[in-house]
Amino acid sequence: MNSLAPRTLSSASDLAAAGLIAEDEAADVARVTARYAVAIPPAIHDLLRSSANAPALMRQFVPTSHELALAEGENDDPIGDHAHSPVKGIVHRYPDRALLLPTLTCAVYCRFCFRREDVGGAGVLTPAEMDAALDYIRATPAIWEVILTGGDPLILSARRIGEIIRALDDIAHVQVIRVHTRVPVAAPERIDAALIEALRSTGKAVYVAIHCNHAAELTPAMRAACGRLSDAGIPLLGQTVLLKGVNDTPEALEAVMRGLVAARVKPYYLHQLDYAPGTSQFRVPVEEGRALVKSLRGRVSGLAQPTYILDIPGGAGKVPLTGGYVSEENGSFAIEDPTGTVHSYPPAPSAETDDA
Ligand code: SF4
Repeated sequence: MNSLAPRTLSSASDLAAAGLIAEDEAADVARVTARYAVAIPPAIHDLLRSSANAPALMRQFVPTSHELALAEGENDDPIGDHAHSPVKGIVHRYPDRALLLPTLTCAVYCRFCFRREDVGGAGVLTPAEMDAALDYIRATPAIWEVILTGGDPLILSARRIGEIIRALDDIAHVQVIRVHTRVPVAAPERIDAALIEALRSTGKAVYVAIHCNHAAELTPAMRAACGRLSDAGIPLLGQTVLLKGVNDTPEALEAVMRGLVAARVKPYYLHQLDYAPGTSQFRVPVEEGRALVKSLRGRVSGLAQPTYILDIPGGAGKVPLTGGYVSEENGSFAIEDPTGTVHSYPPAPSAETDDA
């Protein structure tokens, strides 16, 4: 691949010039970039050039003509955000928590994104829209947790992030602020002292949930960014999407979960891929996902176990896809261990333990 000055690649011609797509793919890829946002920032470009796992990374970030094919079940709003959006910039699906989307811009655009029809180009909420979104949170006392997402909230300036955090700090019923981001992977240099100070400009609990799908994303710069957040006392959670050709083997899943824990990030969710348009090339069947998650149970400690989660299409909310370890019959339980051996619980009394 050619060497490039460090800048974000966003067009088919950029990608061809960088050697990330072939010249004869450029016309098809241009049709994709006309429909969906593309951005490959320098940190991701470096990773694509240098990583031994480049195919798993290329799949996530470099557009292909597969994205133009709509598979059965795919739709523009796969988890039903729009039906739960009372005002622009708010998604309120569960009574006690609401999403606040201050921007629809990201540092990098993932080719499987569940909000791919919305992200990119739409910019940030205007001051009036942000006021209206905050007014909705102020007027809804049931909202205990606000989740900043998007887009990626950490592409905003530290000043702007600080303003949002302090506005939430002033709302008494909001007790927890969670920030969902891919910036530690895509642009780790943004996690600087000013941004961390902005995140800490509240006495309320602030969690940062980091989107990371493959162990190769855990570069020294990414781990250092996690370290800066953690050293500042900010708890870190990991979010991973189960993706065909990226992390759909026991080894790949184990590696990313171990890598996250070692970077002080607690794996939180492993997401079943949503039915966003043009993403069928990434879909792993649920039964395979369940088997992969089961294999993790026997391989890594509880600290490295995420919850395998499905956002029910249409907006009915999240449910775990795991289970299957326990079944009940006539008041006793059959428990399956990680090797597949079934044990009854409570254990059957043995003759030796009978009271004399
Ligand atoms: S960073 Fe998140 S919101 Fe942005 S493109 Fe990737 S998955 Fe979508």
